[in-house]
Amino acid sequence: MLVWTHDRWRFPLPERHRFPLDKYALLRERVVADGTVTAEEVREADAVPWEWLESVHEPALVRRIRAGSLSLREERGLGLPWSEALVERGRRSVGGTVAAATLALEVGLGMNLGGGTHHAGRAFARGYCLFNDVVLALWRLRTEGRVRRALVVDCDVHQGDGTADLLGSDPECFTLSLHGARNYPFQRIASDLDVDIPSGTGDDRYLTALADALDHALPRARAELAFYLAGADPWEGDRLGRLNLTKTGLRARDELVLDRLLDEGIAVCVVLAGGYAEDIRDTVDINAATAAEVARRTGAL
Ligand SMILES: [Zn+2]
Repeated sequence: MLVWTHDRWRFPLPERHRFPLDKYALLRERVVADGTVTAEEVREADAVPWEWLESVHEPALVRRIRAGSLSLREERGLGLPWSEALVERGRRSVGGTVAAATLALEVGLGMNLGGGTHHAGRAFARGYCLFNDVVLALWRLRTEGRVRRALVVDCDVHQGDGTADLLGSDPECFTLSLHGARNYPFQRIASDLDVDIPSGTGDDRYLTALADALDHALPRARAELAFYLAGADPWEGDRLGRLNLTKTGLRARDELVLDRLLDEGIAVCVVLAGGYAEDIRDTVDINAATAAEVARRTGAL
């Protein structure tokens, strides 16, 4: 199974910043060590062209990001200090999702060991999210005439406001977000289906809510392609998430989403989204388990 990464493109961060920059290289090592993929199967993502970014995001926002002229308020909302390296990495993260989604349409499944930057909307970049990789990938594949109908299954603990902003009025894409009711963002932009999960919810109730949400979304979406944001932040040890899922529960979540989508004959592109465990190895564990479930369903494991 081919997967994409942009782990070598790092950017300057203040000490003890919560963004898990080290996760990406550790995850690359881990999926190879686990035998989920070979070292050769991990591909480095290309940076997408600026014109693509300007086709989805407001061109003036893209120009400010490119030039480093975000306002103080915008940079604070982004939560990451601007640098050329940050922007380069953001373009490669999008490239990884475009490549993984393209592969998914060809063979049924694809995965980017990154991406899921769902707080980036048409005219805003916030919550650690510079560009919306999922919306970019869908736009690109539609432009190439490869796909029309799509579904976003966003299981990051934070609501997918940027994705909803970009795709909310799109009649051929259904957006589903399952998130902590009391988690960021506090001002929501409505998805086609938003499921607020109460703080402290554990595996069983979460999995029931997810199964119900998929029952609702699948017949409405009639999707050819789905994007699955397999956030690690609903985990019980996450510093930002307020849910109480175990690693076993998260694995059951991955299995449920992947099997439901694949059973419907929908191609699936998997992206990581967030994860903020105190010990970064816990986040890597969760992400690696997701990759293993993906590989198992390609017949690679
Ligand atoms: Zn998140």
